[in-house]
Amino acid sequence: MKKCAFFCPSSIYVSEKVIKIGHFRRKSDSKVIQRYRCLHCKKSFSAATHSDLRGQNKRRCNTAVYRLVCSGVSQRRAAILLNINKITVVRKFRFMANKLGANGLLTKCTLPPEKVREIQFDHMETFEHTKLKPISILVVVDKTTRKILAAKACSSPAKGLLVEKSIKKYGKRQDDRMQVMKEAFREIAKVYPYIEKIESDKSPLYPQVIRDHFPTAKYKQYKGRRGCVTGQGELKSGGYDPLFSLNQTCAMFRANMNRLFRRSWCTTKKCADLNIHLSLYGHYHNSVLTKV
Ligand SMILES: [Zn+2]
Repeated sequence: MKKCAFFCPSSIYVSEKVIKIGHFRRKSDSKVIQRYRCLHCKKSFSAATHSDLRGQNKRRCNTAVYRLVCSGVSQRRAAILLNINKITVVRKFRFMANKLGANGLLTKCTLPPEKVREIQFDHMETFEHTKLKPISILVVVDKTTRKILAAKACSSPAKGLLVEKSIKKYGKRQDDRMQVMKEAFREIAKVYPYIEKIESDKSPLYPQVIRDHFPTAKYKQYKGRRGCVTGQGELKSGGYDPLFSLNQTCAMFRANMNRLFRRSWCTTKKCADLNIHLSLYGHYHNSVLTKV
């Protein structure tokens, strides 16, 4: 029995006081929608009144936008391909992230916690707006299935030759890498309590954080082959790669998110949107690309 959509007393006690009062054809997807009236509060409503898609004129494009931006298409090109406004694309991009629950710290993953025994992690480098404002992306993957457990971007200070220029132009840049790692590993340790082995490359930042959050796990660092950071050759052959799962996944991020392409004129304008994009891609990667 239909209940009043306006939470008037009838919606709690007398549900039979709602009657059908005809229907209409929704313009945006040609669906027939039933209208109702509550005889208690006299208000009318439809079957779609409380839908999370309410008010969307291009509702047919939601999934398409999601698939395209996770397949290396830029937001602007997605707008052209779908024949919709580029602002609509941005809106759908954020809407889908919310709808799929892809906005938490961890990436959505249906892997049962007891299956996650070995993980690998690293930082991937990119920038917002200019190379003088670098961003580090913490990527954590499950070694066996290559599913993404977490992918989170944060600001990091400029390195090498750019240090001086960066400070002069934009001031001292905040370094949030430690903070993000702590938060992410705290969550991961909570959600995946059976982790026995952790692998990463060599960085003085890592051992302490790992010891703090995974006191019983075995931790191993590998040197060299920093495939994820700079250079063109993340998947170049080079013999056995102990961090294969990780490097493979980083390469997939780079291949499927336009703003992370090696040569791209698309850049990140806001770190927050990069994070939304990362979790959207993570969702797509886990549910579609690495489906078993
Ligand atoms: Zn009512």
